[in-house]
Amino acid sequence: MTTIGQSWGRYPPTKQSVVAVTDRHAELPVTGGSLLPYGNGRSYGDSCLNDGGTLLHARGLNRYLSFDPTSGLLECEAGVLFSEILDLVVPQGWFLPVTPGTKFITVGGAIANDVHGKNHHKAGTFGRHVLAFELLRSDGSRLLCSPTDHPDWFAATIGGLGLTGLITWARIQLRRIAGPWMSTEVHRFKDLAGFFRLSEDSDRDYEYTVAWIDCAAKGRALGRGLFTRANHASAIPDRRPAASTRRLGVPLVPPLSLINPLSLRTFNTLYYHRQRQPIVHLTTHYEPHFYPLDGIGDWNRVYGPRGFLQYQCVVPPAAAEACVDQLARMISASGGGSFLAVLKQFGQLRSPGLLSFPRAGTTLALDFPNHGETTLRLLDRLDDVVATAGGAIYPAKDARMSGPLFRASFPAWESFRPFVDPRFSSSFWRRVME
Ligand SMILES: Cc1cc2nc3c(=O)[nH]c(=O)nc-3n(C[C@H](O)[C@H](O)[C@H](O)COP(=O)(O)OP(=O)(O)OC[C@H]3O[C@@H](n4cnc5c(N)ncnc54)[C@H](O)[C@@H]3O)c2cc1C
Repeated sequence: MTTIGQSWGRYPPTKQSVVAVTDRHAELPVTGGSLLPYGNGRSYGDSCLNDGGTLLHARGLNRYLSFDPTSGLLECEAGVLFSEILDLVVPQGWFLPVTPGTKFITVGGAIANDVHGKNHHKAGTFGRHVLAFELLRSDGSRLLCSPTDHPDWFAATIGGLGLTGLITWARIQLRRIAGPWMSTEVHRFKDLAGFFRLSEDSDRDYEYTVAWIDCAAKGRALGRGLFTRANHASAIPDRRPAASTRRLGVPLVPPLSLINPLSLRTFNTLYYHRQRQPIVHLTTHYEPHFYPLDGIGDWNRVYGPRGFLQYQCVVPPAAAEACVDQLARMISASGGGSFLAVLKQFGQLRSPGLLSFPRAGTTLALDFPNHGETTLRLLDRLDDVVATAGGAIYPAKDARMSGPLFRASFPAWESFRPFVDPRFSSSFWRRVME
C-alpha cells in the first residue's frame, strides 16, 4: 500500500492536499495553489509530489473502455494499474508491450514518465506503444492526442512528468504471448567487461536483458554480477501457473535503516554465489521474472524513517564502460548502495516524448539509504561523473539533482515549457527550474 502524498523513497517529506479524481467526464477541481496528477506513488523522489499544492489522485479513474482480444488493442482510464491489465489480458494471450520492475503503477504514471523495461533494446519505451490518450487541461479543454492528432501535445505529455494536464484515458497496443511462462538464462560474469560482452551477444535474440551487479564488491571482484536474458516461452500445455497470491510484507518502519555496509556486503556476496554454475536455464512464471520486489509488500520501509534515494543514470555508449567502472568504484568505496544494483543497455529506438529519459547507452540504478548530507554529497559526486560523460539522471527516480544538470541533459526543456499547464506544477519542476 502506498501512502498517498508520499513517493516510494519516502523522501523528501512534503505536505499537500489530496483530491480524488473518479469521473473522467468531470472538470478539474477548483482549488487554491497548483495541481499535480498522482498515480500510485511508485516514483521514488519528488516528481510525483507537489509541496504546498494539491495532488489529483487519479487511481479512481479505473475503468476499462474496451479490449479487443484479436488485435490486442486496449482502451482504459488512466488510473488502471498494470497489475490489473495483466490479470485481464494474460489469460487471453496478451502482455504489456513494456513494463518496469513493478506492476503497481498506473497507465497515467507510465505515460508521464515514459517508463522503460528490460526490453528497451527491442521495444523502446512505453510511449512508443501508446496510440492515443485524452488530456484534460485546466481551462476545461480536452485534447485527443496521438501521433497525428495534436502531435505536439502527444510528444510533450509522454515523459511530460504530469505537468501538461490530466490524462483521463489511453489506447495501448499490447503484444502477443503464448502463455505466462518465460524462458530464461542466468549467466554469472566476473567483471564489467563480461556484462558488456553478454549484452552485445544477447541483443539480437533475447527480448529481455538485465544484470544485477555486486555494488559492495571491491578490487578484482568489482563489477561482477548475474546477467539475465529471457524470451516469452511457447505454450506449455501441461503446466498450469499458480502465480503466488501470498505476499510477504514489511509490517512497520524500523527505527533505523536495516541497510548498512555489513548487511549489504553479506547479502551481495551470498547473492552472487547463490548460483554456482556459470549458466543456469530456467522456465519461470512472468511474475518473479519481471517483478521480484512486488512479492514483498512495502519493502521501501526497510530503509527506516529517513527513507532512501534511488539513483538512476544513463551514460552514452562511447563513455559507458569507463564511466560505469568509475561509478561502481565510488559506490563501493562509500560502503553505501543497495541490494539491487541494476545495469542494462538501452537500445537505439528513440522515445516519442520530448523529456523522455531513455536514450542509447548504459543505465545503472541503485538505492541509497538516506544518511543526509553524506548521501547527498556522494550523489553529487556521481552526478559529476555522469555529466562529464554526457549522461542524464532519471527524473522519476530523482529527489535532488541540480537545475543546471537537468537542463543540460534534457535540452528539450525549453521547447517543453510552453506546454506546462498554467495551474500545474510539482516539487521536482520548481526545484530544477529554479
Ligand atoms: C520497484 C520499482 C521498480 C521500478 N522499475 C522501473 C523501471 O524498470 N523502469 C522505469 O521506467 N521505472 C521504474 N520504476 C518507476 C515507476 O515505473 C515510475 O515512477 C512510474 O511512472 C510510477 O507510476 P505511478 O502510477 O505510481 O505514478 P506516480 O509515481 O504517482 O506519478 C508519476 C508521474 O506521473 C504523473 N501522472 C500520474 N497519473 C497521471 C495522469 N492521470 N495524468 C497525467 N500525469 C499523471 C505524475 O504527476 C508524476 O509526474 C520503478 C518503481 C519501483 C517502485
